[in-house]
Amino acid sequence: MNVYDTERMSESLQTEGYVPTDSAEDADMILLNTCHIREKAAEKVYSELGRFKNLKSENPNLKIGVVGCVAQAEGEEIIRRQPLVDLVVGPQSYHKLPSLERQIKNGEKKVEIDFPTEDKFDYLAKRTDIRRAPAAFLTIQEGCDKFCAFCVVPYTRGAEVSRPVEKVVSEARSLVDKGVKEITLLGQNVNAYHGAVEVGTQFTLAKLIWKLEKIDGLERIRYTTSHPNDMTDDLIEAHADCRKLMPYLHLPVQSGSNKILKRMNRSHTAEAYINLIGSIRKARPDILISGDFIVGFPEETDDDFEDTLDLIRTVGYGQSYSFKYSVRPGTPAAERKQVPEEIKNIRLHKLQKLLGQQQKTVQQSMVGRTVRVLFEKTGRQSGQVVGKSDYLHAVHVLGDQSKVGHVEDVLISRSNTNSLEGKLI
Ligand code: SAH
Ligand code: SF4
Repeated sequence: MNVYDTERMSESLQTEGYVPTDSAEDADMILLNTCHIREKAAEKVYSELGRFKNLKSENPNLKIGVVGCVAQAEGEEIIRRQPLVDLVVGPQSYHKLPSLERQIKNGEKKVEIDFPTEDKFDYLAKRTDIRRAPAAFLTIQEGCDKFCAFCVVPYTRGAEVSRPVEKVVSEARSLVDKGVKEITLLGQNVNAYHGAVEVGTQFTLAKLIWKLEKIDGLERIRYTTSHPNDMTDDLIEAHADCRKLMPYLHLPVQSGSNKILKRMNRSHTAEAYINLIGSIRKARPDILISGDFIVGFPEETDDDFEDTLDLIRTVGYGQSYSFKYSVRPGTPAAERKQVPEEIKNIRLHKLQKLLGQQQKTVQQSMVGRTVRVLFEKTGRQSGQVVGKSDYLHAVHVLGDQSKVGHVEDVLISRSNTNSLEGKLI
């Protein structure tokens, strides 16, 4: 979502006359888009800011802003801790950037972290003018009402809100008009989507997907991130029937221990999750399942951790993201008895070893198969193009620039650590 937000902010500032640059030395404005989900991500902001000190002495006109969820969570404290910061803007106020930019130019410092009543998407620059890469993100839902005991999202992104169907469809159309072939629908709980159609009626995510499926020129639809409790029957059916919906599902479970799931306030059990995966695989047998895991949540015992390994063995993941529990001030779990760091390290290592083996097995199973690949860009080596398979594996082949933006059949010949190699057919 931060990638998407960054694009939207960049577009809004481009309407004010800014142009993007790859080099911080050339910049008149630097916005750090930040993540607050774990402590490490949040702390990184201050070390990054420290690196901008010299730039500011070389270019007194340079303005520095911190945006995103660290901005939302820490507000003015950021300027107190690092006085070179001119601007602090939370995720729900990005549409105010052009006017804030004019104010900070006059030497003021600004902190904008209220949750405004207006819908920022109505004010952000339109998405029509910029040439697009073949795969794009599109935020359809933001925020969360679930309050898992470890998570800051409900506090930083706010309450769960869905964008109206027509606005999503029109943004999708304008992306496709600019050459986009694949859209990933985004939300912190994307499958809880309930966007308004007209007064009094709402669409589920499945209904929205079916509507987007009708857009000519759009070839692939994905969505992320989902919560197990919002995996409705119509969404599972869409995985069976909708040709454009890709066979990949990121469905975080966090833990395989019912005791820990309960203390996390996840409101599902390990068995319910495993049954759900069974129904999804029945609908779409080749679907690649991806997940998120937390080790060392307060009070997690060796037995609880073993339950997580068991769940992983039962489900079989093609892709995964795993983390040591990170204390987030203000969340319920922060106050509880913590698992020692050394134990977290050992558990994370074990967990990642198992998940790594599973990922390797799934990648190996692609060798000898023909898969559809949307080519996104030329590769690092000359004569190479890279793209993503239906299963979201990175695939590279020998081929030229003309393939970029097209979906082609590729025979997979080799599996590397994090990518596949193949030949165009
Ligand atoms: N809405 C999604 C996840 C959003 S946060 C869901 O409910 O599954 C992305 C991931 O970050 C989470 O799935 C979780 O695994 C991880 N995460 C969130 N808070 C964390 C914390 N305090 N410590 C470690 N990992 C955390
Ligand atoms: Fe965070 Fe996801 Fe839980 Fe919401 S459902 S609180 S975003 S982990």
